[in-house]
Amino acid sequence: MSRLLGLQNGIIYGPIDSRRLGSSLGINLLPVEYKACPFNCAYCQYGYTPARGYKSVWGGDDMPPVAEVAEALRIGLGKYPDVSYITFSGNGEPTLHPQFGEVVDEVRKIKEELTVGAKLAILSNSALVSRAEIREALGKLDVCFMKLDAGDETMFRRYNRPHKDIKYDEVIEGLKQLGEITIQALFAGGEHGNYNDLHIKNWARKIDELKPSECHIYSLDRGTPDGKLTQIDKNGLIRLTEIAAGYTDVPIKVF
Ligand code: SF4
Repeated sequence: MSRLLGLQNGIIYGPIDSRRLGSSLGINLLPVEYKACPFNCAYCQYGYTPARGYKSVWGGDDMPPVAEVAEALRIGLGKYPDVSYITFSGNGEPTLHPQFGEVVDEVRKIKEELTVGAKLAILSNSALVSRAEIREALGKLDVCFMKLDAGDETMFRRYNRPHKDIKYDEVIEGLKQLGEITIQALFAGGEHGNYNDLHIKNWARKIDELKPSECHIYSLDRGTPDGKLTQIDKNGLIRLTEIAAGYTDVPIKVF
């Protein structure tokens, strides 16, 4: 496996060609010098979350103002008007931006002004979905890919290592109140992984409660900060879908 990934060094990055989204222009609303995320996942491609970025509410000024995001997007769409998606992702959790709702409104306005047909998407870890204002902003996007790797609080604490203010049950309740979503989940083996039959059953039961339109599952394809994780191969992921099918009829796609 390749090593950890470097951080994005600006607001707009890509376009990236992905199997799920086709060509996607990324928007990074987060600091460029460090990862900012309320999670500290054992597998994070950017390495462990540093103390200054491990927050559930942002009070600092290291994130770009709305006007700066708007300007960067105009330039990006000027160069790449034919992308299929404009995707909030980047150096951590996009909804941590203190004006996330305003940013979403501005991005949609620019997309319409420039008559760009791209859909608006987000790759979110779901940490802040218990907040009504975050759900309202997410509801204005075309596609929400929301992370749920854990089927219970114990696995959540061990694998995603959320900030103490983020509670598993509140994340689940928040996800239930969102409109149509796709769940994304990363499965890893090894001593610190989430790939075991008992956990897969718990996860599948939770998916059945949430009823997303579908789930996308995948495994490691980069180095991880935690050395006690292993990659699950395609057959292992297919086996997971077979176990999960005993507990939910939500479609689960392997990537
Ligand atoms: S949610 Fe994403 S960015 Fe945050 S620690 Fe986990 S993998 Fe890294």
